[in-house]
Order: sequence, then C-alpha cells, then structure tokens
Amino acid sequence: MSVNKSWNALSNEFVKCPVDNCGHIGTIITKTHCKLVHNMTREAVRKRYGMPKRVTKVKESEING
Ligand SMILES: [Zn+2]
Repeated sequence: MSVNKSWNALSNEFVKCPVDNCGHIGTIITKTHCKLVHNMTREAVRKRYGMPKRVTKVKESEING
C-alpha cells in the first residue's frame, strides 16, 4: 500500500477507506460513504485519518463499493 493523493482510485487499483475498522474498498471513497457510515464529512475524515490507501490485487468479493 502507498499513500494516495485523491479519493479516486487509479486504473486497476482501488482505494480503501482510511477510517479505523472500516475496510470499505471501492473505486472511490464518496462523501456519501463518509456521511452515512461515519457521520463525518470527507474533509473531517481526511484531517483525522488521512487520505485513502491505494490497494491493488483485491479480490472481487471484497469490493463493496
Ligand atoms: Zn469508511
């Protein structure tokens, strides 16, 4: 894993929500996800947890984006 600079995944990669114990993986970490799941704005998530982690080689069954 390496630190990403955006909330969107690059091609052939996914991003993983930076919030502890979340584990949400998708092609983008949406504002809606942050609000619904964490009750935080995406900016608040970034300040507290940082940017999403880029991940590769994820199994399709783990993608719930
Ligand atoms: Zn999350």
